Amino acid sequence: MSIKYDVVIIGAGLVGLSTAYNLKLNNPNLKVVILDKESGVAKHQSGNNSGVIHSGIYYKPNSLKAKNCISGYTSIIDFADKNDVPYDICGKIIVATSTKEIEGLNNIYKRGVENGLQGIKKLNKEQSLEIEPHCAALSSIYVPQTGIIDYSKMAERLLYLFLNQFGGLAVFNQKVTNIVEDGGNLVVETTGDNYVTNKIISCAGLFSDRIANLTEKTNDLRIIPFRGEYFKLKPEKEYLVKNLIYPVPNPEFPFLGVHFTRMISGGIEAGPNAVLAFKREGYKFSDFDFDDIKQSLLWPGFWRIVAKYGRTGIGEIYRSLSKAAFTKALQNLIPEIQEVDLIDGGAGVRAQACDRKGNLIDDFDILQNKNIIHVRNAPSPAATSCLSIGKLISEKIST
Ligand SMILES: Cc1cc2nc3c(=O)[nH]c(=O)nc-3n(C[C@H](O)[C@H](O)[C@H](O)COP(=O)(O)OP(=O)(O)OC[C@H]3O[C@@H](n4cnc5c(N)ncnc54)[C@H](O)[C@@H]3O)c2cc1C
Repeated sequence: MSIKYDVVIIGAGLVGLSTAYNLKLNNPNLKVVILDKESGVAKHQSGNNSGVIHSGIYYKPNSLKAKNCISGYTSIIDFADKNDVPYDICGKIIVATSTKEIEGLNNIYKRGVENGLQGIKKLNKEQSLEIEPHCAALSSIYVPQTGIIDYSKMAERLLYLFLNQFGGLAVFNQKVTNIVEDGGNLVVETTGDNYVTNKIISCAGLFSDRIANLTEKTNDLRIIPFRGEYFKLKPEKEYLVKNLIYPVPNPEFPFLGVHFTRMISGGIEAGPNAVLAFKREGYKFSDFDFDDIKQSLLWPGFWRIVAKYGRTGIGEIYRSLSKAAFTKALQNLIPEIQEVDLIDGGAGVRAQACDRKGNLIDDFDILQNKNIIHVRNAPSPAATSCLSIGKLISEKIST
């Protein structure tokens, strides 16, 4: 007779790990197992991102993003303090570099006030240059709460506590292939073992739609993967950026727009762009997966995205292929940057959910059907928000 679990969690990224941690925090006796197809934690979005602790300034008041980012912010700092996760609350500026961006900048400031952020300031050109002397700001918003953190280390610490403090179980190299009901139990089938359980929580990131399709016949969201490529500033040019410099986001495509980020492990990253990826976990331009492409092409929403954002997408592909074009985008924020100042900096792939009509789902999406929860959309700032999302899910599944 195989062991029966109370909860199986699919995915050892920050959302899955935080959910497991919260479940055990509330009820140490629960039998919880985390399954992941990789050999360890945070191998995808959670370990390949910009490493920013977001303040919550951008998000629609009362949205899941706004609520969980703001409460997750406090939780993550508390967690990092108690568990020696390196972080630095260094602040950032969001800069308008042309008069047409001023209205957008003012709107972000209003959002920040509505979301209750303390201490954010509007700065004129001279004040902006005191913070980032090399940026091309006409005006800016200073956000003191923003920070940087080592998210891979955070994931490792969450796993450590889950295993060693709470007696949880994590099994790697277990790719979930099916979920079936068997005599009142749920059975999670994997490429390794099968796991019998009462409840399932899927936090499968770039594959969240495929897992949702296993149990939800009417799942109406699909993941469209967008690769984000980075450059790094050569060490002798790092003086050009003190901390974090962000552009005014495009409200239609909020994750578009390259920025500069000081990393907690040292160095300055520049990017990312947002290029439609031909493979969900493909980190290079040449990575290609037939099934991933076929699934995108068969989804009506995909074609509507192409129609809506095709021009923007072509610009992003151009910036992916041409370092000169990427440099030009960065020069918008720091005119002194030259192509020779940039070295390769890796890439991450974003899981962006899209509906049938081609709407990119902006807010987090958590679908519950009795004893199964699917996290169907957890884009940025889900790393910042992970402990709050984990708490929310653990409360949902317990009731
Ligand atoms: C380029 C980039 C920059 C970003 N920058 C930031 C930032 O600065 N700050 C911020 O707050 N957020 C940022 N984000 C967003 C943040 O990284 C993600 O929202 C967050 O990491 C999502 O975590 P997750 O656990 O849902 O997904 P993931 O970390 O992707 O984890 C999903 C896990 O599920 C596993 N899995 C998938 N399918 C299966 C299967 N069939 N069987 C078993 N396991 C499976 C995968 O192997 C993976 O380990 C960024 C994202 C990207 C891509």
